[in-house]
Amino acid sequence: APVISLRDVTRVYSIPAGDVVALDGVSLDIMEGEFVAIMGPSGSGKSTLLNQIGSLDVPTSGDLFIDGRNIREMNDDELTDLRRDTIGYIFQRFNLIPLLTLLENVEYPLILKYGRRDTSGRPAELLRMVGLEGSILEHTPNEISGGQQQRVAIARALVNDPQILLCDEPTGNLDTKTGEQIMEILTDLNRQGRTIIMVTHDPATAEYAHRTIVIRDGRIVS
Ligand code: ADP
Ligand code: ADP
Repeated sequence: APVISLRDVTRVYSIPAGDVVALDGVSLDIMEGEFVAIMGPSGSGKSTLLNQIGSLDVPTSGDLFIDGRNIREMNDDELTDLRRDTIGYIFQRFNLIPLLTLLENVEYPLILKYGRRDTSGRPAELLRMVGLEGSILEHTPNEISGGQQQRVAIARALVNDPQILLCDEPTGNLDTKTGEQIMEILTDLNRQGRTIIMVTHDPATAEYAHRTIVIRDGRIVS
């Protein structure tokens, strides 16, 4: 069964100048364990599509199913649980909290979830898995490189053990070699069974995916 299904999803933004149809009747199935790249020119609707898949935004019309459940039929608590426990997000700009150490950045979602400090050791374990350990964990994000920041962001995205990882230009702010290292980490996570959906401009980054979806003017063209 597909882990994500979009059925005729349309998203219209209303702005003073009129309506912008950012997604225009998109239907799409993504199976568990797939690694999918989404490509297309700037303004074609890639981020809008990723936000729909991440249930960060409700379609103007059409339906989104995650694990077979229609998100229109979920209440706010269920949506919060879904976003927190089923989906991990990785961004181009890393979005780490500048005042927290690397270890605290990864622990933070657990504090939000459980209302207390972590006792499981999972944050340090995940940071070790992405290649960070020792005294560097006490540094803050502005003291480390972009590649290291993206490693921290990946560890943070994994801390609630999500089945699906959504990546918005994960190599967009990285040099080629560092980008390749990040893509190797994502490839390993996919081999371990996680579903990965990634927006990218970069054909070399898209090569890591099993399937590439191209969108143009809010429609899937291939
Ligand atoms: P991409 O990620 O491919 O660059 P987007 O999904 O960001 O494309 O945008 C698709 C279209 O929707 C563009 O025309 C963009 O200007 C418009 N758009 C995106 N977000 C908004 C918004 N919050 N309000 C109004 N228009 C938006
Ligand atoms: P999940 O939603 O991942 O299934 P649960 O909410 O069922 O996780 O919690 C799993 C176990 O971890 C529970 O026994 C919970 O009490 C325990 N736990 C509590 N606090 C934390 C924490 N800060 N970090 C990790 N695990 C925690």
